[in-house]
Amino acid sequence: MLFKYLKPFGYAISILDIDVQRLLSYNIKGIILDIDNTLVPWGSWDIPKGSLRFIQSLKSLGLKCCLLSNTDNKARAVSIGRELGLPVITNAFKPLPFSFFRAVRILGLRRENIVSIGDQLFMDVFGSNIIGIRCILVKPLTDKDFFSTRVLRILERRLIPRVLKEVEYFGDIRPR
Ligand SMILES: [Mg+2]
Repeated sequence: MLFKYLKPFGYAISILDIDVQRLLSYNIKGIILDIDNTLVPWGSWDIPKGSLRFIQSLKSLGLKCCLLSNTDNKARAVSIGRELGLPVITNAFKPLPFSFFRAVRILGLRRENIVSIGDQLFMDVFGSNIIGIRCILVKPLTDKDFFSTRVLRILERRLIPRVLKEVEYFGDIRPR
């Protein structure tokens, strides 16, 4: 059934709220990270200080990261990747699996040792689940989105209380 593919492995208010030690306890060695509304506000070229610190803390713990975005603004994504010192895949066409597989190859890890983190149920969570990667859903940083995403958000808002039932919370703050 489709519904089970929309269920995230975990959730948190934002990446800053994610308990990285808990990721390590699941033997996670690499992270596939969405860009827009997860790491930076939608469409932004600037990386919030908190996101920079989050990436630094992942790196200092030896976790590998790869940015995976549906954006077609390659220049912006590459600039973000360069600033963070991370590989970037743009035009990912999430939830289709091919660029998730590319990210897995870049990380050079087994899928069970990877989590993905993203803000969209139908892109990040669904795309990860269909190739057997666990996904942590975060709350979008802004209300801004592509028009098509805004339509999906309406559906998402109705599904989120259901998909988050019995899902592990990865942060400190109580959610949504
Ligand atoms: Mg996003």
